[in-house]
Amino acid sequence: SIRLSDRVQSIKPSPTLAVTARAAAMRAAGKDIVGLGAGEPDFDTPDHIKQAAIQAIEKGFTKYTAVDGTPGLKQAIQAKFKRENGLDYALDQILVSCGGKQSFYNLAQALLNPGDEVVIPAPYWVSYPDMVLLAGAVPVIVEAGQQQAFKITPAQLEAALTARTRLFVINSPSNPTGMAYTAEELAGLGEVLRRFPEVVIATDDMYEHILWEGGFSNVLNVCPDLYERTVVLNGVSKAYSMTGWRIGYAAGPERLIEAMTNIQSQSTSNPTSISQVAAEAALNGEQGFIAGMVEAFKQRHDFVVGRLNAIPGVDCLKTHGTFYVLPNVEAAMARLHLADDVALSEYLIEQGGVAVVPGSAFGAPGHVRLSIATSMANLEKAMERLATTLSK
Ligand code: PLP
Repeated sequence: SIRLSDRVQSIKPSPTLAVTARAAAMRAAGKDIVGLGAGEPDFDTPDHIKQAAIQAIEKGFTKYTAVDGTPGLKQAIQAKFKRENGLDYALDQILVSCGGKQSFYNLAQALLNPGDEVVIPAPYWVSYPDMVLLAGAVPVIVEAGQQQAFKITPAQLEAALTARTRLFVINSPSNPTGMAYTAEELAGLGEVLRRFPEVVIATDDMYEHILWEGGFSNVLNVCPDLYERTVVLNGVSKAYSMTGWRIGYAAGPERLIEAMTNIQSQSTSNPTSISQVAAEAALNGEQGFIAGMVEAFKQRHDFVVGRLNAIPGVDCLKTHGTFYVLPNVEAAMARLHLADDVALSEYLIEQGGVAVVPGSAFGAPGHVRLSIATSMANLEKAMERLATTLSK
């Protein structure tokens, strides 16, 4: 049989994509399943963005571009950082990639050596630890439970940093918790990071715009002195409902961005030319779409959190944004004699016809992640089913 690399054997396939695939397979077999696994908005990409891409095709803009992105898109990203975040970047400090996922992948490959440590707060986006492992480095997980609103404290960060720490990852608003750090909380973390000058900081701002509680800030807004060693990661996937177009971007120190570009030049080359034109239209165009989408997510959030907390054994915090909630289900597990959140998720899909992602996939055992990026009708059906199945 074929012998596989140690590298690939150190990781697992994305569990969120696996849940979506499982729900699809059960549906194909005739089962009625409500899927709450999705990691993408259920809205269509706005029409002016689609039209820009159609025109790009018709004009023959269908060839290789510069590896790091077209000048037009990079200028749009530069203007976005200035306008929305008050951050200044030269064009050679910006790299466009095939999704935010590739942005982080490039970063890990460009920065990490075997044995290097990466501090990742839990609950975390599933891909951070595995991409760190693929780079041969070591994820160091710092746990933040529900009692601290899933956010780490400066003292916890300080205790996790060592002489081997090369990278600290912060994701706010967070997938899967929906929580955002306040400016004061970020300043507290920044205070610690100042004392560890060797540590690079990655701020994953992918959900920046999907936020209804408190304003958005990232660590550079409160600690501008960390600019020389901070990489900002963002993309158009979530804000403009463009997950399939695969455009993400990174901005940071020129030397690091150049190294990330070299990694990309030997893997995918440029992101799709047509998608880059679409992303440029998204960033430069009219932004009204976002507010409408966020309003819908907020209404669904209020409904879902209310219904979840009425189910015995389920405890769900209100979130600040994103389209996820992460209820604690430990009491429900105990009452139903289910060993863990994986068993509970299995029970919910088999007995209740509702697909959720086990929290342990995100470093949050005892919880499940529900995506609210689906219609109110689906959410009503799902909440009805969860209430019935969990009250048995
Ligand atoms: N970062 C976070 C926190 C995410 O949740 C995701 C998508 O799920 C990404 C980055 C990457 O998004 P994409 O590669 O689709 O642009």
